[in-house]
Amino acid sequence: MHVFGLIGNPVGHSLSPPMHEAAYRELDMDARYVTFEPDDAAAALEGAKALGIDGLNVTIPFKQDILDLVDPDDLAARIGAVNTVDFSTSPPRGYNTDAAGVRRAFDHHDVVLTGNDAVVVGAGGAGRAVAFTLAEACDTVHIANRTASRAAELAAEVRENAPATVTGGGLDTLADRVPAADVLVNATSVGMEEDQTPVSADLLHGELAVLDAVYTPVETRLLRDAARMGATTIDGGWMLLFQGAVAFEHWTGRDAPVEAMNDALRQRL
Ligand code: NAP
Repeated sequence: MHVFGLIGNPVGHSLSPPMHEAAYRELDMDARYVTFEPDDAAAALEGAKALGIDGLNVTIPFKQDILDLVDPDDLAARIGAVNTVDFSTSPPRGYNTDAAGVRRAFDHHDVVLTGNDAVVVGAGGAGRAVAFTLAEACDTVHIANRTASRAAELAAEVRENAPATVTGGGLDTLADRVPAADVLVNATSVGMEEDQTPVSADLLHGELAVLDAVYTPVETRLLRDAARMGATTIDGGWMLLFQGAVAFEHWTGRDAPVEAMNDALRQRL
């Protein structure tokens, strides 16, 4: 039997177990997906290796700690966070499938990123993954964050290796940037607890593709406003789905049964 899992704290409400187990059922795989709340990332990794666990997802608060304990791929190393560990090699390989998930979520909705102007709101963990990913394809990426200095620092890091022009600023820069943008991503937690949006509705327009990383609720105020303006909307469930699908593909070498995984996810969102 293959064993995959998730380490983090807390992981009790994670949607990854039903999503991955739906994939195992769909492909008739003898596999299980288990969640763990360890105290220490290094001990957890050693334990997983000793137990013959095939792959782990990693979430808060371990995504950065794990980076130094595995062999990260280029993108994960640049982002500075690993959310997927594959134990089939020694040392284990680390990936950031939040980043790949963003790319796949846009692809799935036929949004072409190449040559476009993108705005990312947020410079935390999700913002980092999104900004590095968009900078690989888009012409320009502007990062706007409540703490403007954090956006400027992230922009400086991202532009070191990216062909894109990358800038950063405070949330006040949205007024200039969003009306001229093709792609907008909310990577803040705004919209999660209360019915709020980080981007004023009057800045949105019909030429935008808007991805909201927030997935509780699935339909955020930002996405409702964007849909009203005729924009393409992509909810956070798609990012969640595709980070899981890409992890599955790293671990198994097989195409993820995305439809089955999505059905399992949507039943719980
Ligand atoms: P994080 O590292 O804590 O970063 C939080 C971000 O939100 C920071 O940019 C922060 O700005 C900003 N923020 C928080 N409260 C704000 C407010 N009231 N007004 C304006 N900005 C505010 O969190 P994270 O891990 O990046 O997660 C961010 C969101 O993405 C969460 O909702 C999470 O669930 C979601 N997410 C979704 C997926 C997915 O697969 N769909 C994956 C990862 C994360 P400051 O820097 O100024 O504090």
